[in-house]
Amino acid sequence: MREKKSGQSETALTETGRCLADHILSTGPVTVAEYMERALGHYYATQNPFGVAGDFTTAPEISQMFGEMIGAWLADIWQKSGKVSAVQLIELGPGRGTLMADILRTARAWPDFHTALSVHLVETSPALRKKQAQALGAYAPVWHDRLEDVPAGFSFVVANEFFDALPVHQYVMQSGEKVERRIGFDNVAQRFFFTVEGDVTETSPVSLAVMDEICRKVSVHGGAALIIDYGYTEGAGDSLQAISRHRYADIFARIGEQDLTAHVDFCALRERAEQNNMTVQGPVTQGEFLNMLGIAQRAEMLCRKATLDQQKDIMLALRRLTAPSEMGTLFKVLAVMSKKV
Ligand code: SAH
Repeated sequence: MREKKSGQSETALTETGRCLADHILSTGPVTVAEYMERALGHYYATQNPFGVAGDFTTAPEISQMFGEMIGAWLADIWQKSGKVSAVQLIELGPGRGTLMADILRTARAWPDFHTALSVHLVETSPALRKKQAQALGAYAPVWHDRLEDVPAGFSFVVANEFFDALPVHQYVMQSGEKVERRIGFDNVAQRFFFTVEGDVTETSPVSLAVMDEICRKVSVHGGAALIIDYGYTEGAGDSLQAISRHRYADIFARIGEQDLTAHVDFCALRERAEQNNMTVQGPVTQGEFLNMLGIAQRAEMLCRKATLDQQKDIMLALRRLTAPSEMGTLFKVLAVMSKKV
């Protein structure tokens, strides 16, 4: 991985940065979680984060094969769970709607499954809701602000690069005591700074609350959830990072105009699901997951009908999604299932 940058920003404050600075100056330093929440709220509401011109590229934006594998995985569970006639397909943070579109196209191979599906999108950004409407309008999706708002029923929940956008709290041990790390603002130097330094541990209560809700949703009426993200299975320390134009950036720069994420603690999510009495599979690496579902064979099949240039693109995408040096190892997949399935 590249060195991540943190420290001081030389550039003028953004509007969100100014707002945050004023807030800190009047009420005191904020938690890392509050900093993330404020910066990201503005970011997703106003920026176009995806693709070459944006800040980052996600797996479904790399290749249709990603969504196809997930569609096949869901169809398999649907078959094993007695082919229920009404399935809520819920996506958390659907971005441009690409993953959902690929899943739905793949589901056509199982006509009864396809017919059973209703589409629910949990999305807070009005700008991204518009993009999702363009991609998925034909399926009459229903939007929700929170997972809690989705009606009860047999549900499949999919979350790709959603949990990394949820706020984390950071703690540092100081003289034998766990102290929460906060972010202050130096009005003379016009700079943000961390109130304490040291070995950092992170927790994300919001992520655990979302996991609780996922478990509640799929345990009452049946179903499953698939969580895919970059993350760790052993302590990772300080994982807060900013990404701008596909590069690591200063987390205190361009507040609200660049992406801010934390790695996902997959052990904590797994434990939480187990405490909720769910059947849990994984986390396994994204490479293992996609290979197990036959992504290499799918790539070969696509290549057969493709031009030489397209074949190159397909093989490159396969590599990006599965190679350990690319997304294959850093990204993990966790499956959570109701004991009824
Ligand atoms: N899953 C997509 C997009 C990932 S980016 C993909 O793989 O391409 C993160 C997405 O989560 C965006 O759609 C963002 O607007 C949404 N999001 C972030 N925080 C959210 C929250 N608290 N509630 C609902 N959606 C959120």
